[in-house]
Amino acid sequence: MSSSFKNIETKIIHAGEIHPLIEGAVNLPIFQSSTFESSTGTKGYHAQRYMRLSNTPNHDVLHQKLAALENAEAALVTGSGMAAISTALLAVLTAGDHLLALGGAYGGTHAFITHELPDFGVSFDFIDGNNPDSWESLLRPNTKAILVESVTNPLLDIPDLKTVVAFAQKHGLVSLIDNTFPSPINFRPAEWGFDLSLHSATKYLNGHSDIVAGAIIGRADLVKKAHLKLNHLGGSLDTHACYLLYRGLKTLSVRMQRHNENAMKVAQFLANHPAVKKVNYPGLESHPQHQRARELFDGFGGMISFEINGDTDAAAKVVSAVQLPTSAPSLGGVESLITRPATTSHSGMSPEERAAMGISDSLIRYSVGIEAAEDLIADLAQALAQI
Ligand code: PLP
Repeated sequence: MSSSFKNIETKIIHAGEIHPLIEGAVNLPIFQSSTFESSTGTKGYHAQRYMRLSNTPNHDVLHQKLAALENAEAALVTGSGMAAISTALLAVLTAGDHLLALGGAYGGTHAFITHELPDFGVSFDFIDGNNPDSWESLLRPNTKAILVESVTNPLLDIPDLKTVVAFAQKHGLVSLIDNTFPSPINFRPAEWGFDLSLHSATKYLNGHSDIVAGAIIGRADLVKKAHLKLNHLGGSLDTHACYLLYRGLKTLSVRMQRHNENAMKVAQFLANHPAVKKVNYPGLESHPQHQRARELFDGFGGMISFEINGDTDAAAKVVSAVQLPTSAPSLGGVESLITRPATTSHSGMSPEERAAMGISDSLIRYSVGIEAAEDLIADLAQALAQI
C-alpha cells in the first residue's frame, strides 16, 4: 500500500496504516501486550507475535512506514540507534570477516567497531571518506562490508557517497550508511544504491527528545537477517516507545523543513559574524562538499558546528551565555541544543586525538531546533557580544 503514495509528506501520514481502522480509532492504539494469542497454523517461534520479536501491530506499521519513507524494501525498528548499528553489523559480518568503516564516525559506532567486533573475530580498517583512491589498498579477500555516515558529527563532512556505492558493488561488499543526520526527508540512501540505512531514531525521526530508538532500513533479505539477529540479541523497541516514535514521525516533514530553514539562517548569521572564525554547514557555499550536498540531499539539515575567534574559555562562555539552546548532548529534537564535543561526545579522546580528527577544544556544535530563527539569531548575537 505504501508504494501508492507519490510524495514523502503523504507517506509519513498514511503509509503502512492498518485498514479498516481498529475499532474506528483514527490513531493506531498502543498494543501494550508482551504476548499474543497463538493463531491456528502459526509456524514456529519467530511467527508467534511477541513484543521482543518486533512483530506487534505497532512494530508492523512503523516498519512499513519507514521503508516507504526511504523508498526501500523493508525496515526494522530497534531499542536504540546503537542497537540498529550493532545488530546490522553482526547480521552482515561473521568471524573471519573484515569491515571497512568511516574514520571519524559517531563515537559509539567507533567504540563498537574497535572494542567489540574483534571479540567476534571481525577485523576492520578505517577509511578516509573523501579519498576513494586510498580504499582499494585496504581491501582484503575477506572484506565483506563498508560502513559510512551521510554527514559526519561534529564536522558535517559529507563522504564521497556515490563512490562508496560503486566501490561496494564492484567488490561485492554490503554497503551500510548511518543516515541519522539528514533523515529520509533530506536523503534516501536506497535511491542511491545503499544496501542498508541505519538511524538513531532518538534524533530527527522521533524529534521530541523523549525516547531512545533506532531503525534499519533497506534490502529485504538483509533486514530479515537483522530481524532474526535482533530477536536473539533482544534489543527490540517496546510498543510504548513505538507509539511515541510513530507519533513523532508524523510531523517529520514539517519539522525537517523548519530545521533546514533555521539552520541555513543561523549558519549565514554566524558566517558573517566577526567573532566567528569558521562555520561548518553543508548549505554554505564555503563548505568543501557543498556541491555534493546539493546533488545528493533535498535539504542541508539542522546541524551546525563553528569555531569562534577565541580560546576554549571563550567558547565555553558562548555555550553558557546562550539562553535558548540547552547545553546538552544529543540532537534532532524540536528544541535547540548546544554542546562542545570536546566535553561531551568526544571527551573520551585526548586533545591530540581530537586535533588529528580536526576537532578543536573550542569547537561548538549547535542542533538548531524549530523555534523562530530570528530569536535564535538574536540569542547567539548577545552571547557572541560577551566574548
Ligand atoms: N548515530 C549517530 C549519528 C548518532 O549521533 C548517535 C547518537 O548520538 C547514534 C548513532 C546512536 O544512537 P542512540 O543514542 O539512539 O543509540
